[in-house]
Amino acid sequence: MPIFEYKCAACGIEFEKLVFGNTGVSCPECTSDNIVKKFSTFGMSGVGKQTSSGCSSCSSGSCSSCK
Ligand SMILES: [Zn+2]
Repeated sequence: MPIFEYKCAACGIEFEKLVFGNTGVSCPECTSDNIVKKFSTFGMSGVGKQTSSGCSSCSSGSCSSCK
C-alpha cells in the first residue's frame, strides 16, 4: 500500500497518510486542505527514513508554539 508523505502549506507540519485512490487529504493539525505531496514510499524498510512531525520553520518537535 502506498504511503504518501505530505506537508501542510498552512502550518508547515509533515505527515504521512495512507491514500487509496484520489482521496482528499487534509492536515491532521489544522485541517487545511492546502497540502503538498512530497513522495511515496512503498514498503521500504525505513532505513535512514526520518519521519518528522515537527515544523520545518523551527526546530521544535511539536510545533505547537509557532503556528
Ligand atoms: Zn496544517
